[in-house]
Amino acid sequence: MKIAIMGAMSEEVAPILEALGNYNTVEYAGNKYYEATYKGVDVVVAYSKIGKVFSTLTATTMIEHFGCDRLLFSGVAGAINPELKVGDLIIATKLAQHDLDITAFGHPHGYVPEGAVFVDADRSLIETGKKVATSLGKSVKEGVIATGDQFVADEERKNWIAATFNADALEMEGASVAVVCNALGVPFFILRAISDAADMDASFSFDAFLETSAIESAQFVMQMVDEIVGQ
Ligand code: SAH
Repeated sequence: MKIAIMGAMSEEVAPILEALGNYNTVEYAGNKYYEATYKGVDVVVAYSKIGKVFSTLTATTMIEHFGCDRLLFSGVAGAINPELKVGDLIIATKLAQHDLDITAFGHPHGYVPEGAVFVDADRSLIETGKKVATSLGKSVKEGVIATGDQFVADEERKNWIAATFNADALEMEGASVAVVCNALGVPFFILRAISDAADMDASFSFDAFLETSAIESAQFVMQMVDEIVGQ
């Protein structure tokens, strides 16, 4: 077993590296990858940089180059579902690309031929996540995450994404990581802590809560690793 733990920004993986303590830094394909052994299990940690392209590169590298056989993503997101407040956690059940658009040819938003609008996350890792949530006494929401190469700070765009994909939260990397893992047959788990509400105050909220929300998410993901290692 070799577990990939990824985020998009340094703030998202810093608490994970801190929890691991000792790690070996490897530079590859324009990025840094941190290799460690945690409770006898190999892990590789990295932040991809923001967006679908960089996250695709990092997820692929972690699987194809470093040989990871499951992937956990930890990060922050904008809330769509009004039940989700800053600091709350959401586990992705399925993910879609909200900015993928060949609707001019009669296709639905998020769809390209031979692809699918939604990619399902791994059911058994979601169950592990629920078990961890229960043991921590935390209420963690499960829901749809919409991904696009856009920081959404606009009610109109947010409402459109909500209506089109029935999404509960939005961010910039989840669906691309999902496509990679799905294609390569690697079970994946995408966790996000809310940093903002994707509205006109989103950038201020993001700056204020990035660090605390990133820690919320990272701590949960480390509990997931504990659970997986113990299984
Ligand atoms: N402040 C950063 C940019 C952050 S972009 C800088 O200047 O470098 C937002 C990041 O957090 C992305 O990685 C995305 O996945 C997530 N995110 C949080 N809130 C979001 C929102 N409202 N819209 C899109 N992505 C969001």
